[in-house]
Order: sequence, then structure tokens, then C-alpha cells
Amino acid sequence: MNFLAVNIGELVTAAGGVKRGAAMGDAGCIKDGAFYVSEGKIEAVGTRGELEKICRGAEILDCGGALVTPGFADSHTHLVFAGERSEEFSMRLRGEPYMKIMERGGGIAATVAATRAASEEELVRQAEGHLEKMLAFGVTTCEVKSGYGLDEETELKQLSAVKTLNERQKTELVPTYLGAHAVPAGETAESYIDRCVERYLPKVAESGLAEFADIFCEKGVFSLEQSERYLKRAKELGLKLKLHADEMFPLGGAGLGARLGAVSADHLLKIREEDVLSLARSGTIATVLPLTAFCLGEEYAPARKLIDAGAAVAVASDFNPGSCCTYQLPLAFALCCIYLKMSVEETLTAMTINGAAACGREKTAGSIEVGKQADFVIFSCKKKEFLPYFTGMNLVKTVFKKGERVYG
Ligand SMILES: [Zn+2]
Repeated sequence: MNFLAVNIGELVTAAGGVKRGAAMGDAGCIKDGAFYVSEGKIEAVGTRGELEKICRGAEILDCGGALVTPGFADSHTHLVFAGERSEEFSMRLRGEPYMKIMERGGGIAATVAATRAASEEELVRQAEGHLEKMLAFGVTTCEVKSGYGLDEETELKQLSAVKTLNERQKTELVPTYLGAHAVPAGETAESYIDRCVERYLPKVAESGLAEFADIFCEKGVFSLEQSERYLKRAKELGLKLKLHADEMFPLGGAGLGARLGAVSADHLLKIREEDVLSLARSGTIATVLPLTAFCLGEEYAPARKLIDAGAAVAVASDFNPGSCCTYQLPLAFALCCIYLKMSVEETLTAMTINGAAACGREKTAGSIEVGKQADFVIFSCKKKEFLPYFTGMNLVKTVFKKGERVYG
């Protein structure tokens, strides 16, 4: 379907590629903007006056004077899993420490057991329900990690579920192998990393089911040295890199990510001062996950400091059954503005083009500009300032993916 989108209150284009530092403050807003979509792609962008001249006779999509943005890219999720951990959530509310819960077979181990026991079809069905709701928040691109198998069979089952989901629904999914999410019971971190490096990573690369490799680089989980060994092997095998870095302890994972040319370093609640600069000077995207900090009652990642230092910041949900059982992007948006001290435009940049880049999709998604997929959201409000103002409320009205109306 070809059409000219007009009557746009405010058009956020996020054009011009990945944005770092001060450039994040410019989300490419056009007053009374318009754009022309042909064969699922953006063919022209400008003001209504300009485009009406060159697209005479085109079918019109009337956006009702509303705010229009690119579709959101959620670049960090653990979407494919079985079971739930609501009991653990209640224990945490009663003040039980996370490690105690782990000792009793809770935490990641509980999800690993449930995921190993589930069929691929069960995993697909559970994730499908969540993806439908994510689409209603405007998510048109979404990274999905494995990591609840910690063995060959289940990790490949999770990645295969992502492939099936990609074929069955509209949101574009980007698969990540997170074999090194936790140390399997009865094993040492060192021997498990040996097996990942020798057997699992080559298998995953050969399967073609993952684009990225990720590791939980954290004190008490996988050390800096182990993370480096795992990530270097993944890189050799042609996988792009991500890492869970500096979430609970300032171990230096962000610096390692920058040094190895990782696409993103994620979490960063406890990032060291020197690594703020390492990220700012590298091509690695700093991905912050405010919903996780919110759910755990932790201090937020220093997004302001990262942006002021010149880093490219992305914001993602970290949806998972343990620490952050939500993908409520409207709430994440408000947290960014209220607690992470990001401006509305910086938050939009972080959730669109920078998020797409953290998914490895900056060339095809994340902005409304010529040549990109026509992935966009029409809101029920007129201007971007309403997004955090209506705190946590979903103002998404209609969502388009590749020029097709997929929600609303
Ligand atoms: Zn995570």
C-alpha cells in the first residue's frame, strides 16, 4: 500500500543515524511534517506543503493532528521462557535476599528448569501473547535472548522459538545467544565457559539461529577474564557482541565491551567513572534498563553522565520473569525523564534509532527517513511532551510495520 501520511501534529523522525552525546537531544522533529510510504518503505519526508506538491494524487493517511514517531526498538529482552516467579517476587517484597532465594532453587535456576521442561511450541505461544501487548506499546523491533537452558538442546530450542516467532508475527525479532547467563548447578564458571567456548558457541554459530552473543559479566557469576574469553570466541565465529555489565558491582564489564567492540553494554548501574569515558569514546552503545532498577528498588544507571560524556544511550525493557517482569515502555519513558534526567528528545532517540542500532538494525529501522522500513507509531496526543506527562500511560493509537497497519 502506498500513501502520504499528513496532518501530523509533530513528526519525530530520529533521522541521521546513531546519535551520541549532545546529538541525542535532537530527535529530528518536524512541525506539520509528512512522509510518503511506498512498498513498505519511506520514500520521502518533509513538511506537508513540500510533500503535497511532489506526491499529488497519492492516497492520504490522515494522522488526525497527532504525534508520530518511529516504531520503538526494545533492544534487551528475555522474552522466551516458561513458567513464572511471582512467589519469588513476594519473597523479595518481604525482604528476603536474592541469593537466599537462589539457594532454595529459585532465581534463574527456576526458569531454567521450567524452560527445559517446556516444548518449543509452548515457548512460542507464551511469547506470542507478550509480543502482541508489546506491539500495543509501539515496539516494532525487539531483541530476544536465550539463556534459560544453559545446555545445548534448550538454548537451541529457545533460539528456534525466536525464529518461529519471527515467521508468525509482525514485530521483527533479533536473536541473541545468552548461554552464559548463569553457572549451571553442580558446575564451576570456569568449566562451563570452557564448554561454551569449545562446543556451544560453535554450534550456535553453525545453526545460524543467533546474531549476537551475550554474557552475564558480574561478580559471582562470570569474571572479566571468562567474559573476555567467551566474547572473543563468539566474535571469531562471526557473532556480534553484547554484555550484561556492571549491574550489581563495578567489575569493569562496560570497559571490556568497549575494548572488544561490542555493539552494546547493558545495565551499567554501577559503571566505573573510567568506563563512562571508555563507552563515550567507543562505538559501543550504553543500554540502560530503568524498569529493572525500578522493580528492584535500585539506583538508576547514570544515563545523564553517559550522555554528557558523549556516549550513545539506548533504553530497553529487560523483560524477564525474575528481576523485571514488565515491558511497559510508557513507564520506562517517564522514568528516563524523571529519574535518569534525560530530556524527552533524548529518550525518544534512545528508544528509536539508538535502540535499533543496539539491535543491529540502524540501517533498516529506528527512524523515519528515506529508504527505511515504514515502521511508525501514531499517538493519541499532539506532542511528544505528553509521553512522560501522562506517566506510565499508553498513548499509542496505531502502529505500522513495513507500511502495514499492525495495531489499532
Ligand atoms: Zn538481561
